[in-house]
Amino acid sequence: MKKRRILLLSLCLCLLCACGQRPSGPPKVDFLAMDTLMEFSAYTDKSRLEEARDLVMDIERRVSTTSQSSELYALNRDGGGSVSPETAALLDTALSLCRLTRGAFDISIYPVVRAWGFTTGDYRVPSFDETAALLEYVDYARIRLSGTDVTLPEGMEIDLGGVAKGYAGREAAAYLRERGVTSGLLNLGGNVQTIGSKPDGSAWRVAIRDPRRETDYAGIVEVRDKAAVTSGGYERWFTGEDGETYWHIMDPATGRPARSGVLSATVIADDGALCDALSTALFVMGPEKAERFWRDSGGFDMILITDRDETLVTPGLTYTPLESAPYTVRTLET
Ligand code: AMP
Ligand code: MG
Repeated sequence: MKKRRILLLSLCLCLLCACGQRPSGPPKVDFLAMDTLMEFSAYTDKSRLEEARDLVMDIERRVSTTSQSSELYALNRDGGGSVSPETAALLDTALSLCRLTRGAFDISIYPVVRAWGFTTGDYRVPSFDETAALLEYVDYARIRLSGTDVTLPEGMEIDLGGVAKGYAGREAAAYLRERGVTSGLLNLGGNVQTIGSKPDGSAWRVAIRDPRRETDYAGIVEVRDKAAVTSGGYERWFTGEDGETYWHIMDPATGRPARSGVLSATVIADDGALCDALSTALFVMGPEKAERFWRDSGGFDMILITDRDETLVTPGLTYTPLESAPYTVRTLET
């Protein structure tokens, strides 16, 4: 499965290269972090990109759920503790996004994610009784964060996998912008963070994967100085003995993979952490709730591809569907 993900990701990167950069383009740094291939390129010295890479790897070291030396691992093991100011800032951001989405995004989902085997790759389909019992431990509102002190209720564990890449992209972009970088493209495994526009002033063109045809893309969206983050069931999944497909995005209301009618949710906004958490949350909400959420809260654009073969696009975007893609595009009205 992992090998396949890397191959698919390489394809996405090729698309991005084809759409976003010239062959003689800027310096590039490729690396593996957060369980995915990342590619940073920007009009700056390579050493700057390496510093941005180190910043991302430092975030990973602090908030990995599986590395026994991470701060998050210690929190989950001990039911709380004191963390670094940087980790506290990430937790604070994540908790505010849980509140914003009223728990469609919930960082306390970890016991559920583990029960399905997504942390180890030993996939299994837990019974309804088992997932219902695990929901007792899922409720972000019971996480206490006071300064750098964290307290978790008995049995609760945190998973930042739904927001860490977007947060890391945001921080890396801020680091580079503060050092004068005005044009760059940071790809954190499908979480794209752009800095400024292309050197000729035109927008970056980001490919949106076709959730039904894994080697193809559904369309291209233009992005300037923003993040574009997609959540899709195709990213990580397994087939159960019953022949059903089970993916890694969980509905915190049921403790089971979210089947909302959304096949992929892309969010485009200034803040990469917001984009990442919202893309996961909109996937959980489904098309109708997601549209209502967009109207009520605003502050972002989205592209939702649904199981009715519709692509819903907010009016703030320039989106060009691939002619051969099987989706009808509907632009939402304000
Ligand atoms: P993403 O690819 O950003 O949608 O994030 C998916 C990852 O976030 C999963 O692999 C889990 O680790 C975690 N996750 C799954 N469901 C949720 C949820 N409803 N809220 C927060 N995190 C989740
Ligand atoms: Mg996410």
